[in-house]
This record gives sequence, C-alpha cells and structure tokens, in this order.
Amino acid sequence: FPDLKRIRQNVDIYSKNCVDRNYGGHADFPAEIARLGKESQLVAADIAELSKKIKELEREIATANASQKSPTSSSQRSAIAIEEAATLRDALGELESRKASYDATAHELALALPNLTNSETPLKGGPQLISYIGHEPGQVAPSKSHTSHVDIGTSLSILDFNSATLSTGWGFYFLINEGALLEQALVQYALSMVLRQGWTAVAPPSVVYSYIADACGFQPRDQNDEQQIWQIQQAEKDALKPKRSLAATAEIPLAAMYAGKDIPEDRLPLKLVGSSRCYRAEAGARGVDTKGLYRVHEFTKVEMFAWTNSMDDSQDTERSMPVFNEMLRIQREILSSLGLPCRILEMPSSELGASAVRKVDIEVLFPSRMSRDEGWGEVTSLSICTDYQSRRLGTRILQKSGKRAKFPHTVNGTAMAVPRVLAAILEHGWREEEQCVIIPEVLRPYMGGQDKIQRA
Ligand code: AMP
Repeated sequence: FPDLKRIRQNVDIYSKNCVDRNYGGHADFPAEIARLGKESQLVAADIAELSKKIKELEREIATANASQKSPTSSSQRSAIAIEEAATLRDALGELESRKASYDATAHELALALPNLTNSETPLKGGPQLISYIGHEPGQVAPSKSHTSHVDIGTSLSILDFNSATLSTGWGFYFLINEGALLEQALVQYALSMVLRQGWTAVAPPSVVYSYIADACGFQPRDQNDEQQIWQIQQAEKDALKPKRSLAATAEIPLAAMYAGKDIPEDRLPLKLVGSSRCYRAEAGARGVDTKGLYRVHEFTKVEMFAWTNSMDDSQDTERSMPVFNEMLRIQREILSSLGLPCRILEMPSSELGASAVRKVDIEVLFPSRMSRDEGWGEVTSLSICTDYQSRRLGTRILQKSGKRAKFPHTVNGTAMAVPRVLAAILEHGWREEEQCVIIPEVLRPYMGGQDKIQRA
C-alpha cells in the first residue's frame, strides 16, 4: 500500500527527492501518479453516475414486472429498460476496467519510488562525519603493518580463496581452523551483546519470495539495470508460482515475519536479532575489491530489526529514535570492544537506497586499504525506514481501541557483518615479528581462551 494520497499531495517534494536520491529516472513518476489519480477520479464519477442510472432502470424493470394493470405497455417499457440497462452495464464494465488500469499503473509507479528523506540527511556532497570511535583523527600509526588480511589469513592457513575459486568461483572463500572459529566467535559475541538488551533471537530463512525482497526496498535490479539480488531459477513446471530470491540480509525475512499481520501496540517497539547467511550479486562491483573478504557474494551477518510506534500517517522519526540510538550504541560497543578504530558517518541522500529516510554507517580503518578511501571501509549500516516497508508488506498496528489504521515504522542495523570485521581483526592484530594475530580479549571466551593465532 504505497501512500498514493501523500504522493499526489506532494508531487514536487517527491520529484525532487528522486533527484536527490539518484533516482532521477523516476522524477516524472509523482506527476504521472497525480495525473492518473485525477483520471481515476473522473472515471469514478462517471461510474457512480452510470451505476445510479442502472439502479433506476433496474427499479423500473422490477416495478413494470410486478405491475398487473397494463401488462402490454409495461412489458414494452420493461423490454426497452432491459436493453438500456444492458448497454449501460457494458459501458460501466469498460469504465471500471479503465479505472482499474489507472489505479494499477499509479500503484506500480509509487512502488518504484524511494522513501522520502529525513532532515538530518545531507542532500549534497559526501557523508558527514559524526564522530570517531577508539581513534584520534589522523591515520594509523606509521609503524603499523599494512599487510592485507588476504596475505595474513593465507600465511596462517585460516583463509583459502583458491579452493573456493575451484568449488564456487570469485567472491567465495573457505575459513579454516581459527578462521572458522573466529566467525562463530564474532556471531556469538554480537548476539550476546544484543540479547543482553532484551532483544528476541531469530534464525530466519535465507530464501525469500522476490516480491517480499522488493517490498523491503531490495528491487531485483538497480538503476543501471544491474542484477543486485540473486533470483532463484524456477523449474518450468513452477513457472506460475511466485519467484524466490536469496536474501541479501536477514532484514528481509525478519520484516516479512509480520507481512499481512497486525502488531499489538503494546508490543512496540518489537525488537528482533537474526543471524543469517547473506547473498549479494555485487553486479556493479566488478573491478573493485576483487581480492579478499571485503566484497564477497556470501557472508554471515547478525542483523537487528525493529518495528516502532508511529504518529498517525506521519513520516516523523521521533518515535523510532530511542531504538535507532540503542542500535547505534550496540554497534559502537561491539566495534570499540574489538579495539577497531572507527568513524561514524551520516550518509547523504544519494546513498540511502530505496527504503531509508536516514542512514548512519560506521567505517573501520583497514591498514591494507590506506591507498583507497584513506583506508576507511564500511562495516555497519543503520537505517530508519518509516512506513516504507510496513506499508508494502501490509503490517499494521493494532491499537488498544481495536483500530488498525496505522502502519508501524521499521529500523534496521548491522550488529556484526563477519567478513569485513574479521579482515580488520587480522590486519590490526597482526604482529609481523611473531607472525601471529592477537585475538581481541572479548572474543577469547568464545575461542576456548586462545589469545593468538599462530602459524602452524
Ligand atoms: P548493507 O546491508 O548493504 O547495509 O550492509 C551491511 C554490512 O554488511 C556492511 O556494512 C558490510 O559490513 C557488510 N557487507 C555488505 N555487502 C558485503 C559484501 N558484498 N561482502 C562483505 N560484506 C558486505
């Protein structure tokens, strides 16, 4: 249910928003939606008029049929009325299908629009720095090794890209021994940090209906017509069944848990944390980050997802802010306790994707990436999506009064995206002289107390 009324009443705002958000190709959609709305209204008036006339004729026919006084003249009149009513019904059917076509086109165009943009979000330029974590502004110490996690992981025999190239192709990897344990430790640690705050743990499916991914703002194709989500090929016999995709993030199946359902108001905010395998086509990424764990096709991620209360029909994010701030605090605590130098960024409108009105990313300094983006690389993302996802998925708030008019807002944030954090731990923990990686203290309980990864 995209909010067609809101779009029609704010055509210029929605149109400019498309341009601000790199959806320039959609900038005409709001005006077209408004035009279709007017056409639909005109046709609706004609439909009402015709329906009224048909009803009158039906009454006339019924009266004539019931009348016994002058059977001949009444049956003559009745025959004319029957013919007239049939002609009008044909015209009515034609008008109804025209209206349905206007409404369906408007609906489709509205579904393709990005969400509006929050006032905190910069409209021009790049990301805005909010603050640093565990790091003084400047660079990593010059003495720090710039060895890449690929070389470190390979030399310690805990990371194997070659075997994955044979088994699966580019963008896949094997984690071995402490590499595999480190992944589990990161997941367990992040889960424990979130669960401590009273969130509900969920193990979601990694396959979703494509229309569900679409409703969450993960359109299968981007502006350049690049495939971003992997769609599963259907057998010919299933051609009429809904298509399925590999979930790019647990956000999608978690959001779908309440698709078409109501959430009782007193359960809000409803907060879930899910660990899952994530699949990214990364179609536009050819040529960059071709080596290592930074950009891969499959990885493990712990994701926080929440539904929050909303004002009536409003895009106000006020009621989502406590959950947004809680997620950001958890992200900061996890990364700073791992000893990773980070910076927090307010993301600009051009990088919000389809669903977010506001997005805050945390980047970690990767010693091996100093020649690119001064070493900074995104490790978490945090978004408020207002009612974009809940409207498209049909999730409503069941108010205490029994009314179910409002849509909840949704907020999502990364608790732990394993590969980039694992890469950063290898690079920051690397001790060249001893040829070992120091394991962050907080992870040691999940690794049998082991404090370093040594070459075998
Ligand atoms: P996103 O869901 O796209 O906001 O990404 C959340 C986090 O997942 C990012 O901050 C990265 O840490 C991680 N991530 C996203 N895409 C990839 C990828 N292709 N390979 C490795 N990690 C990724």
